Amino acid sequence: MQGPLIDTLARQGVSRRTFLKYCATLASMMALPPAAGRAMAEAMAAARRPSVIWLPFQECTGCTESFTRSHSPTLEGMIFDMISLDYQETLMAAAGHQAEEARHTAMRDNAGKYLLIVDGSIPLGVDGAYSCIGGRSNVDLLQEAAAGAAAVIAVGTCAAYGGIPKANPNPTGAVSVSDIVKDKPIVNIPGCPPIPVVMTGVLAHYLTFGSLPELDDKGRPKAFFGETIHDRCYRRPFYDQGKFAKTFDDEGARRGWCLFELGCKGPVTYNACATVKWNGGTSWPVESGHGCLGCSEPDFWDAGGFYKALSVPADPLGFTAAAAMVGAGAGVAGGFANRAKKSTAKKTHEPVTLDDLEVPK
Ligand code: SF4
Ligand code: SF4
Repeated sequence: MQGPLIDTLARQGVSRRTFLKYCATLASMMALPPAAGRAMAEAMAAARRPSVIWLPFQECTGCTESFTRSHSPTLEGMIFDMISLDYQETLMAAAGHQAEEARHTAMRDNAGKYLLIVDGSIPLGVDGAYSCIGGRSNVDLLQEAAAGAAAVIAVGTCAAYGGIPKANPNPTGAVSVSDIVKDKPIVNIPGCPPIPVVMTGVLAHYLTFGSLPELDDKGRPKAFFGETIHDRCYRRPFYDQGKFAKTFDDEGARRGWCLFELGCKGPVTYNACATVKWNGGTSWPVESGHGCLGCSEPDFWDAGGFYKALSVPADPLGFTAAAAMVGAGAGVAGGFANRAKKSTAKKTHEPVTLDDLEVPK
């Protein structure tokens, strides 16, 4: 295994074995065949670093923080060796005219070949004046950069779906990347913030295969967003048994029971938190005792009801029917098993979204 990346990694103290293991893990997470890990390592090690332009728009910088504070600096940090990050306002040393020049040079020298990463939504109100960089509106900058890009990666829920800036009443007229860019391949990596290894995985896939990974109907990589939080949650056995924490400090909470009645949106949220976890696989929100907010779904903020249980009218989720009938005020524990026996609802496993469910006000 030879190439510029592997040399750089060696200088950083990352062994060939560690790199291979990392690629095998990535390949496994992306549901690729076993041999794909080695192929991925070979391809990435020898790859010519693609130019990447990262434009931050109406955002909180949480996505960049997530990316740069990922758990294993030497390995996740290698992404900066896999790509040529030619423009990223938060991370680059250049400022002002120098920064603008760096972006223009990268766009000109790599026309049609560079990757464009965007975080943040794009405000269209007042001709885009709510958010400008160097005197130009976000929408203007996006259209210019997207025109020469090979593909666009919308990082974070704001770029993917509008996110919190788009929440009602959406004062800035915020929209997503895909609302503006219509003629380029776009992959959405939602999350508030998104999981670092998902970003790394998408870039690794592009470097290895020269294409974006398979996407779901919301433009997300299926490998990471193919299952709900609930599908893989370690508290699921308690859910199936009808054991729910009623408050955040009751006996059920102390025993690690399901957080459904405390508002967990895991059943309608597609993301990889339950398997990939956060902070180097240390933990994730549900493991730390808080329900999922549904941050990787469109309009999660407007759906709100973060501490109110989902109310599911007729088991559209396709999982344990009795539990699906648990709603706010439904009176769960007693009669739970009976509901399960009586339910005739089909287990369809059809995709559902927050829109399919009522959240009691
Ligand atoms: S409702 Fe939430 S806490 Fe309960 S099993 Fe599903 S994802 Fe886990
Ligand atoms: S557990 Fe839910 S709210 Fe928390 S980061 Fe994952 S998808 Fe977002």
